Amino acid sequence: MFMDVTSPGGPGGEGPAFACHGCRKVFAHKEAVERIEFDSSDEPKLRELNGVYHPDCAKPILSMKRAYDMLKRSFG
Ligand SMILES: [Zn+2]
Repeated sequence: MFMDVTSPGGPGGEGPAFACHGCRKVFAHKEAVERIEFDSSDEPKLRELNGVYHPDCAKPILSMKRAYDMLKRSFG
């Protein structure tokens, strides 16, 4: 199989480099990462946020996710 060398950064495309879904900066070696995963039943807009982030970049999304999950539970 041919290794295609394309530049990363397409929407939803995980390039060869491991980059933060928030700021798009490539993670440093052994840098802490935060994974965000919305359920497949969640809003497609939210699922676009799925990915790995720097802990700082993930913070606003995690707090939003927590509120969203709580809302879901109270309606489910
Ligand atoms: Zn980041």
